[in-house]
Amino acid sequence: MKRIFKLSLQLQSCQKVADCLNGEGLRTKVYRTKTGKQFGGERWSARRVYDTLVDEKYIGRIVHKEVSYPGEHQAIVSEDVFKRVHEILKENRVYTHKHQTKRFALLRRLVYCGECGSLIMPAWTNNHGREYRYYTCSKKVKSGYGKCGLPSIPAGELEKIVVEQLRSLLRHPDVIAHTFREVCASGAETGQADKISRLDELRGRRHQSEQAARSLLGLNDPESSLVQSELKRLNGEIKSLEASIRSIESNVTPNRTIELNEVITSLQQLDPVWEVLYPAERRRVLELLVKSVTVTKQSVEVRFLPNGIEQIIDELAPLSERTNG
Ligand SMILES: [Zn+2]
Repeated sequence: MKRIFKLSLQLQSCQKVADCLNGEGLRTKVYRTKTGKQFGGERWSARRVYDTLVDEKYIGRIVHKEVSYPGEHQAIVSEDVFKRVHEILKENRVYTHKHQTKRFALLRRLVYCGECGSLIMPAWTNNHGREYRYYTCSKKVKSGYGKCGLPSIPAGELEKIVVEQLRSLLRHPDVIAHTFREVCASGAETGQADKISRLDELRGRRHQSEQAARSLLGLNDPESSLVQSELKRLNGEIKSLEASIRSIESNVTPNRTIELNEVITSLQQLDPVWEVLYPAERRRVLELLVKSVTVTKQSVEVRFLPNGIEQIIDELAPLSERTNG
């Protein structure tokens, strides 16, 4: 256990710690129930490492109904080490770079003000010993408040909106396929790009029809004849779209299809591990996939980078593999 905490401070990544433990042939603890059933003894996953790092029983405390009490058993890890690990996980890490002290901000240099076009900067304020994080238009900071009408945004709120949009991109293969098409279109194989573009359009239409069918089923009276006939029409449409998709898929160079599937799978696998990623790892995913975020008084618009996808496969595929291992 001590080793897990030590490794996590060194490697700053749950997946890397898991890889390291598995590489040494270590397995999770084995438990036996009264009936003799056996649990554990498995390969480490990023999720398992994360759960271990946040478990207060390792500093000799037990948590009951969300309140932590001193436990009867001895602490395995010092409270200091536990605290350090948590400071990093909670994103309020202070790190030094070229003799400068910089605080971690997930969206640093990615957000622009839609009101005046300036960069939006992370900012911190202290109020009665409690720290608040914001993102503020840099024009206001440099030229004085009143120079831009965009109010400061609580950091947690803005980060949540951006992360949710990013994660929905990771979850929806059709959006990913669309993004990937742009990568293909920029390549030399124009014939292939056309087919992939057509494939992408058909997949998008299938997604829309499926959504329409789903929302019809959610109506108060899904049995009514009007709804039933509309469902029938949609089902027919989905079937014919699927036939077209299959026929184009068989015409696209297998290589490309495999690549596309690989992209979709890698990105989809990234979504469930998002919560156990270290702040710096999250930041890397954002850097690779998000071109910019524009904030106006009314809206937050996230633009994605299509060509970050190929790199993300190289860099992050090992991260998302074996998450259930
Ligand atoms: Zn501004």
